[in-house]
Amino acid sequence: MTVLERFLRYVRYDTQSDERSTTYPSTATQLVLLHDLAGELREIGLRDAAIDQYGYVTATIPATTAKPGVPTIGFIAHVDTSPEMPGAGVTPIVHRQYDGCDLVLPDDSTAVLRLADNPPLAEQMGHDIVTASGTTLLGADDKAGVAEIVTAAAYLVAHPEIPHGPVRIAFTPDEEVGRGTAHFDVARFGARCAYTMDGGSRGAVEIETFAADAMTVTFHGFNTHPGYAKRRMINAIKIAADFIHRLPSDRLSPESTDGHNGFVHPYVVNAGVECTSVKLLVRDFETEGLKEKEALVNALAREAVVGYAGAWVETAIEESYRNMKQILDRHPAVVEYAHEAVRRAGLDVRSRAVRGGTDGSRLSFMGLPTPNLFAGEHNFHSRLEWVSVQDMEKAVEVIVNLCRIWEEKT
Ligand SMILES: [Zn+2]
Repeated sequence: MTVLERFLRYVRYDTQSDERSTTYPSTATQLVLLHDLAGELREIGLRDAAIDQYGYVTATIPATTAKPGVPTIGFIAHVDTSPEMPGAGVTPIVHRQYDGCDLVLPDDSTAVLRLADNPPLAEQMGHDIVTASGTTLLGADDKAGVAEIVTAAAYLVAHPEIPHGPVRIAFTPDEEVGRGTAHFDVARFGARCAYTMDGGSRGAVEIETFAADAMTVTFHGFNTHPGYAKRRMINAIKIAADFIHRLPSDRLSPESTDGHNGFVHPYVVNAGVECTSVKLLVRDFETEGLKEKEALVNALAREAVVGYAGAWVETAIEESYRNMKQILDRHPAVVEYAHEAVRRAGLDVRSRAVRGGTDGSRLSFMGLPTPNLFAGEHNFHSRLEWVSVQDMEKAVEVIVNLCRIWEEKT
């Protein structure tokens, strides 16, 4: 079975995760695909393939090498799709031999994939592009990664003459709601390092992510009947508005930054006269820069309160994740071998700092160095999501190359 056939099968499962859920995984629908994946891995010959109480599917491709000491490496992909876009009833469409013309998606004539709006399509001439039908996301994020890992596993099982060490596989739920690694048992996984297959353009090896915190700034005022409020009421909504107005807009904001610049980003306000809280995302590539931004937010919040006698403010900071480069810099082979695997597949290595997090940002700090490799996904979380069949095939090749390279270099 080809990587495309697998991919077309997986995207038809509704595996949307849900931020508001308190269960793990957040939706039971994810378990349907996870169960079927465990079965499929057993069918291709991975006898220990199993699903645990949290829904994590793991399996081992046994070593084929006679060399002692070849380290165990892992490959990881997530099965859930973003809660931000409908993910049920996905109808994948394969557009053969892309020639640069507009791809009009049949279920909504306003959903048009245009070369002019999507520069990465320029390198896909003659390739086969898969999209959804216009009303849902596709789910290439990250079912492309899942299909690539299963296909590479089947290939390695069918080719025992390829020498490699033990290879571990994991499929995880709830990445899109930030809980993909909540119950991931690094010790049981037992790998020296792993690679998430969840990146974009072919050749991408991502070793740097944001460092991220979540901040809540809560303003306390005083509420009373507005008809009798003279010199008594302290309106926390107005203090919060004053605070938000003080946040820099021409710098340190998502709207004004790219590349290696971080930001503070107010994204939720819970407003009331007595009490108003503002939630902010704080992002930077350096933990130091994160702390500076948090100090700035604190200072601006205090300044805002000064004009309102009797009001007060409290702030809380919650760590989200850290830049995995801090860890990966201590494991140069993990990254070097990934570069080598990409080059052996005939591709140029693309390195880019991810302005977000990956499961690898958390796993790396949990003791499993985990860079992110390309899976071929584009336009994540959008009804214009697409993936190229040829890129998925290259990703399969890169996985197989990595297994060989870790054996060779031992
Ligand atoms: Zn993803």
